[in-house]
Amino acid sequence: MRKVDVLVVGGGASGLQAAITVKSTYPEKEVVLVRKEQHALIPCGIPYIFGSLKDSEQDILPDKLLTSVGVEILIDEIVDIDVKAHSCTSKARETLIYTKLILALGSIPTRPKWLKGADLGNVFTIPKNKVYLDDMVRKISASKHIVVIGAGFIGVEVSDELNKKGFKVTLVEIEKTILNKAFDEEFGIIAEEHLRERGVNVITGEGVSEIIGKDGKVNYILLSSGKKIDTDAVVLSMGYVPNTEIAAKANIELNEFGFIRTCEYMRVLPCSNDIVAVGDCAEKRDFVTRKLDRTMLASTACAEARTAGMNLYTLSPCKPFTGTIAIYSTAIGNHAFGTAGITEARAIQENFNIISGSFTGMDTHPGNLSHSHKQTVKLIVAADCGMILGGEVYGGYSTGELTNAIGFLIQSRVTVKALLTMQIGTQPLLTGSPAGYPLIKAAEVLAKKMRDR
Ligand SMILES: Cc1cc2nc3c(=O)[nH]c(=O)nc-3n(C[C@H](O)[C@H](O)[C@H](O)COP(=O)(O)OP(=O)(O)OC[C@H]3O[C@@H](n4cnc5c(N)ncnc54)[C@H](O)[C@@H]3O)c2cc1C
Repeated sequence: MRKVDVLVVGGGASGLQAAITVKSTYPEKEVVLVRKEQHALIPCGIPYIFGSLKDSEQDILPDKLLTSVGVEILIDEIVDIDVKAHSCTSKARETLIYTKLILALGSIPTRPKWLKGADLGNVFTIPKNKVYLDDMVRKISASKHIVVIGAGFIGVEVSDELNKKGFKVTLVEIEKTILNKAFDEEFGIIAEEHLRERGVNVITGEGVSEIIGKDGKVNYILLSSGKKIDTDAVVLSMGYVPNTEIAAKANIELNEFGFIRTCEYMRVLPCSNDIVAVGDCAEKRDFVTRKLDRTMLASTACAEARTAGMNLYTLSPCKPFTGTIAIYSTAIGNHAFGTAGITEARAIQENFNIISGSFTGMDTHPGNLSHSHKQTVKLIVAADCGMILGGEVYGGYSTGELTNAIGFLIQSRVTVKALLTMQIGTQPLLTGSPAGYPLIKAAEVLAKKMRDR
């Protein structure tokens, strides 16, 4: 039996960030982090082990980030939590008595039961697990053709990387456009064009109804239209579910989607001052709709972890987590796509009274430098007050940072009117021109629409 001040269960993005935050906020506390894997991967880098990176060794989350600030790492698995006794038992039969418990249990990929053939050999998922992924890379290496099912950002990035490696890749998406949850249709169409230009065979508006095997291995997939596509391997990129089984076993409450219920300080509900949950296992609430949500992002996970860590011993009303803005960007070659907040389609579906507007300019000035890229900014704002509810960006490599800035405008409840007087810094090689800065120009388009209503 061992006593620790703070026990973190999980060594992914949220566990790591929570442990580091606790150590910097409360340096006198002993922090122990338990994780299953010998080596944790940088999760967002996983798609790149299939193409751009030499192997998964290039994508390891350095333990030094934890050990250098005094966090102890235990490679083990927690199999039991006793909330009343404030204790956790591990697979190696160690009992850890905690003062504070941080659950950072993460998520696991789904392998849908309704999809016949999903359990065949050579049908893979993308877990955040180095051993599985190394084995998968070895097994698919002899393949000529690979089908990826599901064109969310993970399916898109994995398809692009497999294509880059020289495999013939078909990406199948049941929705009308790819990246459909995060982007409005016009952005999905451009993304699809770029993916096709690079050689990926993209099929949209059609689902996979069955995976057909021969001798236990996949042979072809059957689309809802009845079309057959021969393939040597299938990658399922059909979503992730929270890994909350041990929490449920300990009678910690889960919400209707299986996430651990938490308050805005990430403490588990109802009313625990000593247990917090962060990251993919913790309840998500959409910042704009205020509804429960299932978005899982490392960026959200780390923001929650910082919130939980800072508020672990005493609460600060200045530091709650007020909902996920789901800020994300991805790149297809030199073309990038960023999104923050709500899309126009979702806003309409949720019955918000909105106006949207966009502007296309360049991300440098002049716009004919060798690395210049078109930059489109779309904003979705509340029609009554002009508050920014969502933003989407298409452009070059500055897209990610611009999207982050839009995310903070949403979080700060900034209005389009305020954007009209926004002060910016510009530089020919780095940004659009001061007179044609796409974010401000998009705000002008919207302000005019609001005036003309
Ligand atoms: C391929 C891929 C690409 C992605 N790209 C991006 C991106 O570009 N940007 C972005 O924001 N997000 C991205 N994500 C999402 C992001 O990876 C997740 O949101 C993030 O990993 C969540 O971190 P987490 O710590 O909550 O959970 P996880 O990363 O799932 O980590 C959970 C950890 O808990 C451990 N664990 C679980 N149960 C136990 C137990 N009982 N005992 C001990 N240890 C346990 C696990 O072993 C693991 O170490 C991507 C995800 C994938 C799969």
